[in-house]
Amino acid sequence: MKQLNESDKIRFDRQMRINGWGENGQKKLKNASVGILGIGGLGSPISIYLAVAGVGRIILVDRDTIELSNLNRQILHWNRDINVLKAQSAKQKLNEINPDIEIITYAETADEGNVDKLFEGADAVIDALDNFESRFLLNKFAVDHKIPLFHGAVWGLEGRATTVLPGKTICLRCIYKEVPSKEIFPVVGVTPAVIGSIQATEVLKYFTGIGELLANRLLIYDGETMEFNQVMLNRDPNCPVCGNLTD
Ligand SMILES: [Zn+2]
Repeated sequence: MKQLNESDKIRFDRQMRINGWGENGQKKLKNASVGILGIGGLGSPISIYLAVAGVGRIILVDRDTIELSNLNRQILHWNRDINVLKAQSAKQKLNEINPDIEIITYAETADEGNVDKLFEGADAVIDALDNFESRFLLNKFAVDHKIPLFHGAVWGLEGRATTVLPGKTICLRCIYKEVPSKEIFPVVGVTPAVIGSIQATEVLKYFTGIGELLANRLLIYDGETMEFNQVMLNRDPNCPVCGNLTD
């Protein structure tokens, strides 16, 4: 297990003062490995905040290149990066934000054939996606490996988030039965900023062991009325993905 060095103790001083966090919590983050699928609107704030918080190993997967129409929300990518791979842009920025952590990137599309290789060694995975086909793939990977999945989704000024702990909580298949059709949906950058920050908060809480996770709770954010609501959820015993899993 990697220990904190003197630079860590200065860099992370303010967050180690959070009740229950301390050097022990920071050490857990330094030894954590997380996989993020998608380096766009959600993946940008998630990866930035996990990098500055000192998560030791971050794996990012996205095969897309940056387009002008991405720049209203994908804050890790800048005007100069148009036509550059998101994986490349992300690695460069995150290495500059915090050179002490390991950033691994893959410019690939995750599918059943490669997902095990892409997220090898990940202690948790994060859904920073814009489509349910890939979400279901990541959900199955998380359930199969019994590692948490931090779900987030945005549409316009609305967003949702929940934390999946396989065998203990709902999985995405317990609540979403079909793959909704793919479409170009409206979105403004502040929405994934809110939801991505919530997902990153959940990740930090999970590894440091503080607080209460969004377990069996779907948080629904409405930026138009500025309301947060939550729906309590129960596992589906007939869920095709996690139905047979016991705690
Ligand atoms: Zn399920």
